[in-house]
Formats: sequence, structure tokens, C-alpha cells
Amino acid sequence: MIARPPLAAEKLSMLVGGRSVASASGDRFESFDPFTGKAWALVPRAGIADVDAAVQAAIDAFRGEWRTMSASARGQIMTRFADLVAEEAENLAILETRDNGKLINEMRMQCKYIPQWFRFFGGLADKIEGRVIPIDKPGVFNYTRQEPLGVVAAITPWNSPLMLATWKLAPALAAGNTIVWKPSEFSSVSALFFGKLFEKAGFPKGVVNIITGFGNEIGDRLVTHPDVAKVAFTGGDATGRRVYQSAAGGLKKVTLELGGKSANIVFADAKMEAAIPGLVSGIFAATGQTCIAGSRALVQRSVYDQVTEKLVEFARTAKIGDPLDPETQVGPITTLPQREKVLDYIGIANGEGATQLLGGKVPEDKSIADGWFVEPTIFGNVKQSMRIAQEEVFGPVLSIIPFEDEDEAVAIANDSIYGLAAGLWTQDLGRAIRLPERLEAGSIWVNMYRATSYLSPFGGYKQSGFGRENGQTAIYEYLQEKSVWIDS
Ligand code: NAD
Repeated sequence: MIARPPLAAEKLSMLVGGRSVASASGDRFESFDPFTGKAWALVPRAGIADVDAAVQAAIDAFRGEWRTMSASARGQIMTRFADLVAEEAENLAILETRDNGKLINEMRMQCKYIPQWFRFFGGLADKIEGRVIPIDKPGVFNYTRQEPLGVVAAITPWNSPLMLATWKLAPALAAGNTIVWKPSEFSSVSALFFGKLFEKAGFPKGVVNIITGFGNEIGDRLVTHPDVAKVAFTGGDATGRRVYQSAAGGLKKVTLELGGKSANIVFADAKMEAAIPGLVSGIFAATGQTCIAGSRALVQRSVYDQVTEKLVEFARTAKIGDPLDPETQVGPITTLPQREKVLDYIGIANGEGATQLLGGKVPEDKSIADGWFVEPTIFGNVKQSMRIAQEEVFGPVLSIIPFEDEDEAVAIANDSIYGLAAGLWTQDLGRAIRLPERLEAGSIWVNMYRATSYLSPFGGYKQSGFGRENGQTAIYEYLQEKSVWIDS
């Protein structure tokens, strides 16, 4: 096991109004290391008073210096922040892996790329332009301004804590909003260290506020607070629905990035040496705990046996172990209830008659017995009607579904309430052009999988949510257009 130095509780403070603070009640809660199964950090447990203080600080900051600061000065602070994150990337990655158990290689990659988002959106801050409208009335001048919304509440899940917050914070700040961010109660530690960098970069007090606590205790207050103008949420679809309903009371703007049941489609003409590892890493690399996990492998019937055999062979050799070890390929599940959920789904799939080809249980290896592991699990001959083909497991479980031809592949892929992503493996150029048009999903990858960039829009179709993160247009999720009329 890689050494895990203890973390002093006094280092973990929330960020409210530019000050490092404990919760008003002084309460803290334990954060667990999913590899050791033990509490490793004590995080402030915010209550309603802390939400109110954070929103007050954010609205004061919005009406204060941040509002009058030039857009290029805002952008420069964001660039300074990016530099600080780059310096701290390794430490942040280790904190994330200890807190959520995801592979260190993945968290290193995410923390290394986070500065790009702040540089990109920081660079956009002074390129937000209005328009002149040629009104049909002599002597009347009409122009538009793009203005920030106000206080943005960012609510994020446990699987990629800093990255998914960055997707919200970077465009929202560039647009001139202020922030109250509540990370998941299962992975708050890295957020509190990130918070210290906002202070250091020179953001005015209260522009970014970070409060830690439980969704069921403070989430609703944050969403319904009258001074919150917009809620940017990533998480499960049940929570997303609640957030949407609560936000409706105040007619707040909302973006929702929710779950998925993404199809990764392999045609007989695919380059199998790329497709097989692509499918395996598409589901198992993050132990299935990404919204874009390719949890349904759709395989053309003529190569079904061959592909299935290779997938099982490849996944069988994946190294399960300490997520801090760069050699590890499959880490633990982030939370204990989530492991129970994954094991329940494996039971359901067996009960429904899917053929279990690999895994299906907690690993027997005693050296990792304290961790919350589930073996990489593969089910063959899965039918679309089965729950394992319809519901998001959010764990290392792959369902393989055969299909005959393009039409059937599209029909199966689209037969889902979700529409977050899809993968397509083929060497047929025509098919690579035709199918992305027909697949109902916000991201389509052809001969690759799980790529995202600050340059390219990301978001869901259907019940995977709405609104887009990343790319130039994401900034408009945090702006509103004002029309100004002047009569000469
Ligand atoms: P979750 O819905 O349980 O929690 C997400 C956040 O919502 C947490 O911060 C939680 O504290 C908060 N929350 C809980 N109840 C709330 C309430 N009533 N009001 C306001 N906030 C509340 O999700 P999770 O289990 O942390 O994350 C896993 C889910 O996130 C999966 O379904 C996954 O697909 C989804 N996800 C989606 C994307 C995407 O971009 N589409 C990315 C990653 C994860």
C-alpha cells in the first residue's frame, strides 16, 4: 500500500467571504478513503446559516468590486489562478484519489488539464460582445449587452470533484458571476485546498465561496435561496429532478448534467486492436464511475463471440488495487452504499437471465479486503428489456448486447431514457458519417472514447440533462442579454 499521511482537520476550512472558516455550528463530518475503508479527513459540516452567509458574501461581491472590474482584469485573475493550480496539480490529484478512490493517473490527468479551462475562459472574459440592432425607426439606436446573472450555485458529484466544478466555475466567473460551490459530501477535501488558491490568485472576497456539507441538509436551501440566480448541477437524475423542481419555485435558470447509459458500438469492420481496449477502458478505467461510462457494448453479431471473448480476456487481466499506485487499472468504488448498489445490480442481472462472463463479486484478494471493491464484471447476451441494459449502475459492470445491422444498432442505442454519449468503432467512412446523425446523444466518439476538452461542448440529450458545458458557447449559460434603446 502506498503511504497515506494523516490530514490535520485544522487545514480543512470552508471559504466564505474571502475567509477560511469552520461551519457556524463547529460540526464536522468524516470523509472516507475508499481503499482503506477508514475515515481520513474531518470536513466542516455546513448548515443553513453557512449557506446564507455564503450566498450573502456572493451577492455582496457581485454588487461590489467584481461588477465594476474590467473584463480583462477578471481574465487575468483567472489566468493567475490557472498557474497556481498547475503548481499544485500533483497534490490536488493525490487528495482526490484518497478521497474518492479513483485512479491516480486519471486524477493527475484531470488536475493537469484544469488550468486550461481557467485560461481558456479567462481569455474569453473580454471577448463577450453585444450587438447593434438595425431598428426600423430613424434616430433610434438599439444595442445589446451581455450581462452576468448574479450568484451561481454550483453543485457537484463525487466522481471528478475538481474537474466538474471547473466546468461550471470557469465560464461563470469569466462571465462576471459570483459563486457558491457545494462539492459532494463524499469528496470535499480537494475543494477546500482548491479554495485556498482562489484567495491566493487575488479574486476579490466573496467572488468564490465554498461550503461543504450534506445535500439533504443544505442542498435545498442553496437551490431555493432568493439571491441565487442560477443553479449549475451535476449528479444523479433523481437529485437532478429535485433540484429542477426546487429551482422552479424561484424561476431560476438551471443546467443539469445527469446520468447516462452510453452505448459503445462495435461493427465487424472495426480495428479490433483499438476497439477492445477502447471498450474496456470506456467502462472499467474509472471503475464505471463516470457519467459517460460505455456501460452497454453493442457488438455486431458476426463478431459477437470473438469480441466477447477478447473483452473478457482483456478485462480479466486488469490489475485491481491501490488507486494511488500508477500501475493499478481498477480501483475501489467511492462509497459503501454505491458498492451495495453495484452488487444489487449484479444480482438483478443474474436474476433476469443475463450470462455472467466475468467478475460479479467482491475480490477475494485479502490485501485489498478493506477497500470497497467490486470485480470488473461482464454480462453477455443482455436484452434491451433487462434493467441492466436500461438503468445506470455507476460501477464496473459491462453489458454486451448483440445486433445485426446499422438500423438495429441505432434502435438499441437510442432505446434509453438517457442520451449523454455514444461510441462507434468502424472503418467504414460512410457509417462514421451517417451514424452520428442518428444517435440521440450529446457526445459521439468514433474510433475513440471518453474524450472531453475545454474547447468542445459537453452535455446531455433526453434525460441526461440540458445546457452545455465547455466550448465557447458555455459562457452564454451564465449570461443574459439586455436590449438598450436610445432615441436621439
Ligand atoms: P448525487 O445526485 O447523489 O449528488 C450530487 C450532488 O447533489 C452532491 O453534491 C449532493 O450533496 C447534492 N445534493 C443531494 N441532494 C440534494 C438536494 N436535495 N438539493 C441540492 N443538492 C443536493 O450524485 P452523486 O452520487 O454524487 O454522483 C453520481 C451521479 O452523477 C451519477 O448519476 C452520474 O451519472 C452523475 N454524473 C453526471 C455527469 C455529467 O456530466 N452528466 C458527470 C459526473 C457524474
